[in-house]
Amino acid sequence: MKVRFLGTNGWYSTEFGNTSCVLIESEKYYIVLDAGDGIYKLDRYVKTEKPIHLFLSHLHLDHIIGFHLFGKFRFQQTVNIYGFRGTKDGLQIIRHPYTAPFSDLSFPVEIHDLQESRYNLPFTFTCKLLFHADPCLGYRLELDDQVVTYCTDTGMCNSLYELAQNAALLITECSLKPGQNECGWPHLNPVEAANIAKQANAKQLVLTHFDANFYRTMKDRCKAEAAAKEIFTNTTYAYDGFEVEL
Ligand SMILES: [Zn+2]
Ligand SMILES: [Zn+2]
Repeated sequence: MKVRFLGTNGWYSTEFGNTSCVLIESEKYYIVLDAGDGIYKLDRYVKTEKPIHLFLSHLHLDHIIGFHLFGKFRFQQTVNIYGFRGTKDGLQIIRHPYTAPFSDLSFPVEIHDLQESRYNLPFTFTCKLLFHADPCLGYRLELDDQVVTYCTDTGMCNSLYELAQNAALLITECSLKPGQNECGWPHLNPVEAANIAKQANAKQLVLTHFDANFYRTMKDRCKAEAAAKEIFTNTTYAYDGFEVEL
């Protein structure tokens, strides 16, 4: 299984990264996590007709702005989009006069609202509400006999520990800088992320969703990684193009 980071910024794109998007290529599926504008790179990697399942954490624009450029894709398969209750309604914004609606695309799109629960697609995943300014889901995906957990955007909450339990890979946001705690909306700093990985007994932690306003250079991301490593050694910061093989 290959995990590729297509967008690793929070809030807005800069010369260092696009907004949030991760692509997991498993044996049978393409799993896309969030649809920030990093999603424009998706057609570099989706080369077969394996089913595409796209999971949205929430509807903040840095996680859905990429739907604006869906018209460039020529997929042969259906794109299934999942998000918390209200996603189907919320994504009605993808229409005229803002952008082309899903119904104009050359491939089918189906949107599914989720509750906090465990599902079989047939692959198994669990989703739980995190702690953010608007409803936001974290995901625990069971793929190719391994667990990948994806949690952004959130402050500290119990769901994080539950979703990350013994995960082979834990991907969390890292909007805040080391020592930073308050930015108005609930988010994590690298030390908080590392504490979750440690207490949940995850095997590996990757930090992403670096707030573009706080993380101005790659050096800032290095410093976040170093702060996290003091608590959880197997931590790496993500950058656009970063890959993890599981
Ligand atoms: Zn965000
Ligand atoms: Zn958000």
